[in-house]
Amino acid sequence: MPEVSGVPGMMEQEAISVLDALTAAGYEAYLVGGCVRDAVMNRSIHDFDIATSALPDEVLRLFPHTAPTGLKHGTVTVVMRHGAYEVTTFRTESDYEQYRRPKTVAFVTELKEDLRRRDFTINAMAMDRERNVIDPFDGRGDLARGLLRCVGDPVERFREDALRLLRGVRFAAAYGLAIEPATWRALQEQAPLLRHIAMERIGAELMRIVCGDDPARGFELLAASGLLAHMKVPLAPALAGMAPERLPAGLRRIGELEAPAQRWAQLLLALGAGAADAREAMLALVYPHAFAAEVTALLAWDERLRERLAAGEDVRRAWQFGALDYGTAALRGWLPLARLRLRGEASQQEGALARLLAEGEAWLAAIPALQPRELAVSGADVAACVGRAPGPWLGALLRRLLELTATGEAVNERSALLAAAEREAKRFG
Ligand code: ATP
Ligand code: MG
Repeated sequence: MPEVSGVPGMMEQEAISVLDALTAAGYEAYLVGGCVRDAVMNRSIHDFDIATSALPDEVLRLFPHTAPTGLKHGTVTVVMRHGAYEVTTFRTESDYEQYRRPKTVAFVTELKEDLRRRDFTINAMAMDRERNVIDPFDGRGDLARGLLRCVGDPVERFREDALRLLRGVRFAAAYGLAIEPATWRALQEQAPLLRHIAMERIGAELMRIVCGDDPARGFELLAASGLLAHMKVPLAPALAGMAPERLPAGLRRIGELEAPAQRWAQLLLALGAGAADAREAMLALVYPHAFAAEVTALLAWDERLRERLAAGEDVRRAWQFGALDYGTAALRGWLPLARLRLRGEASQQEGALARLLAEGEAWLAAIPALQPRELAVSGADVAACVGRAPGPWLGALLRRLLELTATGEAVNERSALLAAAEREAKRFG
């Protein structure tokens, strides 16, 4: 029996007390799915799911605090002091519609029938309160062999629910498993079924792959399977057309970055996507607009910097203008990408990258104003000084004042700025 450790103690105790309450009332009850897999692997557990022979009504009656999460599918959430636990009646699924959710779920009395409907053998284990593992499909054997395998016929299982194609890649990457040959063949053959899956769900799985322990391996598997070519909303060619034999070195290192936006940006950069493609892909995956903007800004700034350096511009000046155009958060967020690049392949712009890594933070801190309202003069002051009615020219002139202060050509003081405004005004007719 595996020693279970690393479990958030209070939640584990509570989950066991839920099992106890159910068994005391005469029902069978087990921990099931991901938490058992993680316990067997000695990994930390983030949620405890419970399967029981009790019907949802009976579960509702047995616990004082519950939420009817998915009554039709047999799921009741039991709310305790330290956490919430999904308690689901043993069930089978059938009549999958359009390669996704089942039309019919039937409650059954046998745990094994419930485990049979689950996607992979490693996810089809249960554990009782004595920590005996019930494992009819040999999930433990597969874990020991390092294999991800479907429960039953893999072709059928992917045809029932095509999201399993992506879940398979995620689990193989997250747990360092090889995909068992029949499962792998089926995954490749059935890849086109991914078209039937809502982009939100695809986006959520891809996010978990990108943010997981080994995103590079996840993307190797995505490239080798061709899954990303089969989306309801097509992804940019850089992603959709990823070829396993041409995966760029930069992609292998995205796991070294912390923030999700940095990982996505590095991935897209490595694949040669531009800022516009990146934005389109992030929106196709139904990520929040703010997240899409964050990723896009990283790529757009990267593109801009390369251009400016290639055109011979001074690196500090490019950085100062970048701060005004993309914001300091984007520039700061980009520094870890530069660090990766510098440690990776040789580049012509190495010297510039090294200077940015050494001095970029200080250069940002030295910029006195990033927004017009941070200037020591107001728009009205400038208009009055120039002697013209406010108009579009005023915004352009204020921007020019921001540039002059950012580069140190003017100090952020009223008299200096008004003098500069007078000098520059005729350029902004
Ligand atoms: P994690 O939560 O760590 O990502 P998990 O295995 O707990 O992994 P969940 O999505 O929380 O994944 O699902 C809980 C369990 O429900 C799974 O372990 C699996 O047994 C079953 N399951 C979830 N989604 C599917 C699916 N699409 N097809 C078959 N079984 C599934
Ligand atoms: Mg889970």
